[in-house]
Amino acid sequence: MQIDAATAHAQLDSIAQQAAAAHWSYSHFLGRLLEPEIAARRQRVINTCLHFSGLPWLKRLSDFDFAFQPAIDRTLIEELATGRFLDEGRNIIFQGSPGVGKTHLAIALGLGCAERGQRMLFLTALDLARRMKTAFAQNRMPHYLKMLTTPKLLIVDEVGYLGLDHEQASLLFQVICSRYEKQSATIITSNKAFSEWGHVFAGDAVMASAALDRLLHRATVINIKGDSYRMKAKRLTGLFPGSVALPDAPKGGLRNKSK
Ligand code: ADP
Ligand code: MG
Repeated sequence: MQIDAATAHAQLDSIAQQAAAAHWSYSHFLGRLLEPEIAARRQRVINTCLHFSGLPWLKRLSDFDFAFQPAIDRTLIEELATGRFLDEGRNIIFQGSPGVGKTHLAIALGLGCAERGQRMLFLTALDLARRMKTAFAQNRMPHYLKMLTTPKLLIVDEVGYLGLDHEQASLLFQVICSRYEKQSATIITSNKAFSEWGHVFAGDAVMASAALDRLLHRATVINIKGDSYRMKAKRLTGLFPGSVALPDAPKGGLRNKSK
């Protein structure tokens, strides 16, 4: 690691005095001298990761009210928050009705990734498809595909909220394929059950099934059956009923498939 000597130099005298007084070993002395510079450097890496993350807001697991959403396995979410899924190239699919906390949890895991100094990128499915379409029109597809494949984590939010046309769907499919080939982790949030993914992929059931096959090969699927947090306050006043949960994936289908 390359160290900028400026910080170390500024602290040299005072740390040398402490070292002499407390009879530090050479290695302890060197560690203490370089500690602030290493911390500053680490912070710069984190700031860069956050700057390019595309995260729409910063949400943390500590802000998430698990008691409100008892269907969510908190231990599983906390295990995912260790970031091991990133090294294993595991995908995470959050499914559920609007407002159940899919984006919140995806952002919290993305933030954890950035705070470990690992690059991540957050995009909505529609944004991703639009940008790829532009890149395609400008003959910059290989470059853009690389941009989407290299981050340690890609979060594609709101898959299925708005229909993609066939070209957009096939571009999303290419991203899924190239991340699968590189064994890079992807988080997907969707309000659609897997059985409805044909519609997500512009009515192309073959492409939908091929995309799901890759996504679910190494994946954790979290189907959140619960009420919308957005409606919480309104429901308390009796204005709205609870929301409807998504049906389970078809039996013998692609749910919770693991390597
Ligand atoms: P979804 O993506 O499932 O539609 P969001 O994650 O966008 O839902 O949640 C909607 C809003 O409610 C966000 O501001 C989010 O932070 C908040 N929210 C959702 N669920 C919870 C929860 N269990 N505890 C705290 N805040 C929550
Ligand atoms: Mg959302």
